[in-house]
Amino acid sequence: MGVRPDPLDHGRYWDATVNVVGGCVIADRSCSFCYAAPYAGGIHAATDIELYRGTVEWRNRRWTWTGLLTKLPPDHPNYAFPLRWPGVKNPLLGPGKPSILWLNSMADLFVPGRPTEDFDRLLVNTAISPHNIIGLILTKYPAQMVEYFSTKPAWWRKRFILVFSAADQLWWNRRWQIMRPLAEAGWIVGTSIQPMLTKVVLTPDSLTLLRWVICGGEQHPGHREMKADWARALRDQCKAAGLPFFVKQMTSGWLPPDLLFREFPSWPPDRQRAASPYRHRRAAVHQYGCDVIVEDRS
Ligand code: SF4
Repeated sequence: MGVRPDPLDHGRYWDATVNVVGGCVIADRSCSFCYAAPYAGGIHAATDIELYRGTVEWRNRRWTWTGLLTKLPPDHPNYAFPLRWPGVKNPLLGPGKPSILWLNSMADLFVPGRPTEDFDRLLVNTAISPHNIIGLILTKYPAQMVEYFSTKPAWWRKRFILVFSAADQLWWNRRWQIMRPLAEAGWIVGTSIQPMLTKVVLTPDSLTLLRWVICGGEQHPGHREMKADWARALRDQCKAAGLPFFVKQMTSGWLPPDLLFREFPSWPPDRQRAASPYRHRRAAVHQYGCDVIVEDRS
């Protein structure tokens, strides 16, 4: 087991990940350099993990989704991971706060064509977990996310952070309109503007209703540049609104000092900025079997 640098140095905003479904579908131009497809291809090529078998193919010198959607067998322990994982010793949200468990980091749960039965048990187990954990879900398919969570009971609302992703103003406006009813209903809704491909201006209603804003640039050969001034404009909007702001990464190089913002929602969630700013800690990485990664800072 090795020791990694501080996860915050690498822009991690989650304490652990767990995956139960594989395969995805391109949502828009922001997916052109999807991080998950090459990762799935790399893991599959190296270890032949069943979850990723057939989900990607090597085409035009890169790993590309085939459209095949997979899931783990029903008896796989990953479904029950939220019931047995006690969280990390030093959660990113702060001492005594919940640990953030990113539910299915390797594919969008709400991709069209994926039955909710494929991941429902993971989310139910997160909601009823006896541990101090909170589920983080990111999606570019907000309509399906809204449809799923609209049917869930009110007590689920403090067990999940629901984040919609968009890379430009057009998609951001569309997806925020879809997500807004969840935010108005009291769900903890955030937005991830990554990869940031244009300047994105948050609307006045979103500055009131959102609980978290994340942004970052693409990082790969041939990346599309995120201009620092776009991130600064977003930072200024968030600062003025008291909204937690997290810059994951620039397209290349280190974050400029004035963009070193690694803020989290306060807990219990309210409109105040989190008391969990950028911290220097070392992270030990533990493997919890197939496709579960836990970052435990000590
Ligand atoms: S939605 Fe996310 S996981 Fe799916 S193709 Fe796009 S970037 Fe990749």
